[in-house]
Amino acid sequence: MSSTFDVFRSIQVDPANGVQVEDPATGEVIGVAPVDGVDDLNRAVEAARAAQPAFEALGHAERSKLLHAAADAIEANAEELAYILSREQGKPLDGPNARFEVGACGAWLRAAADTPLEPETILDDETGRATITYRALGVVGAIGPWNWPMMITVWQIAGSLRMGNTVVVKPSEYTRLSVLALIAVINTVLPKDVLNVVSGGRDVGAAMSSHPGFDKIMFTGSTATGKKIVESSAGNLPRLTMELGGNDPGIVLDDVDPKAIAEGLFWGAFINTGQTCAAMKRLYVPDSIYDEVVDALVEVAKAMPMGVGIEEGNVLGPLQNKAQFDIVDGLVKEAVKGGARVVLGGDPDYDAPGYFYPTTIVADIDPDNPLVVQEQFGPALPVIRYTDIDEAIAEANKLDFGLGSSVWSSDRDRALEVAARIVAGTTWINSHGGVDPRVPFGGVKSSGYGLEFGVEGLKAVARPHVING
Ligand code: NAD
Repeated sequence: MSSTFDVFRSIQVDPANGVQVEDPATGEVIGVAPVDGVDDLNRAVEAARAAQPAFEALGHAERSKLLHAAADAIEANAEELAYILSREQGKPLDGPNARFEVGACGAWLRAAADTPLEPETILDDETGRATITYRALGVVGAIGPWNWPMMITVWQIAGSLRMGNTVVVKPSEYTRLSVLALIAVINTVLPKDVLNVVSGGRDVGAAMSSHPGFDKIMFTGSTATGKKIVESSAGNLPRLTMELGGNDPGIVLDDVDPKAIAEGLFWGAFINTGQTCAAMKRLYVPDSIYDEVVDALVEVAKAMPMGVGIEEGNVLGPLQNKAQFDIVDGLVKEAVKGGARVVLGGDPDYDAPGYFYPTTIVADIDPDNPLVVQEQFGPALPVIRYTDIDEAIAEANKLDFGLGSSVWSSDRDRALEVAARIVAGTTWINSHGGVDPRVPFGGVKSSGYGLEFGVEGLKAVARPHVING
């Protein structure tokens, strides 16, 4: 890692007090991250609690200015942040990856700053008057994953700060440097102790969910961890937003032009090398155009370079860690064992450096194969053949996940009819996974509950207060 980077230097610790961080593309040690414990968490919560009343008292206009200033600071350090992110997370600088993620951080901060949240008049007639206002909750805990570490941290903190909460962030143990760097940059403009970070492991995450100092926990991660947080938060009853795992279906209708949709399908499934909560993780294609869609997708996929993130031109990178590599590898092996046809990829070089798994497309797979029904979270897409749309919808809805989904058709009305029958937080038409800071996002079923972004996102980190009379 280049030592000319000031942000990077500021987050480095003595090797004796930290953990070595390796680049998942090369195995090279890129730095040493601090390892904080529960004592550090307690100190951070205390500091956040002490700073909260004054931060709330600043008011919306002043806090919005601070959020814009934070976005300016991120933009001024964008290249350095993208570099740190690429080297730690593995995602390339180019494509919808590291530079894109850093750009999204600024965009989400600005959107949270500019979204109005007015008091709502619920009733105002001869029978009575009632209004709802929204105020800060207090201290928000933000526990994040390793796939989009900077962007998801901003998703969790932008609305929280806008509403006058102070925050304690706990990054994933796999992506500490990225989040520490992001927060170091944001903290150049925020008042002291408003935004705190504890670079802890799973023990610190577990301590957060039962900690009496939190009024709200924003969690993004796996369903298994989300369930533990729900259980252990029962004593303190903080509010919870749970953005959990997904296994998003995409349904192609028989009226599409396969070549025209192939690139959209590709990025819907393979963005961030498949390590995306709301990526398309299973694709249902009608028998009548099955081969054309698979061929068109393979053509696009073959042209997308995968490699070391900081080498310009690559748009796909390695899996972030060995455990995730093993999950993807194991699921593709299960698919082969189950009689599926690997049309592209499926042949990792186990001796090469880094956790690269080739872009893999698997056809003619049993709809109950583990690669279909489990979340692969990597670059291996199963394409399932169907003959009847009712059957495809039933397959799409059969799993206990409900984050994203998509319908692909040249007839918008047909697409909308199918979309209405899918059980998911979001259904995209002719695209998959695109998020927008003005449009609420969240899951149903085991993909979690609560909404982020837009007015709904602000309300989720606020205390509603009804004035009746
Ligand atoms: P994970 O659940 O293993 O870890 C997430 C975070 O939880 C980490 O910071 C970890 O340290 C912490 N943690 C671990 N044990 C804890 C505990 N007992 N209590 C509190 N915190 C604890 O998830 P991951 O592997 O980092 O992320 C991948 C998963 O996240 C995938 O399932 C993916 O679909 C999901 N995800 C969901 C969204 C969404 O918006 N719905 C976004 C990104 C990722």
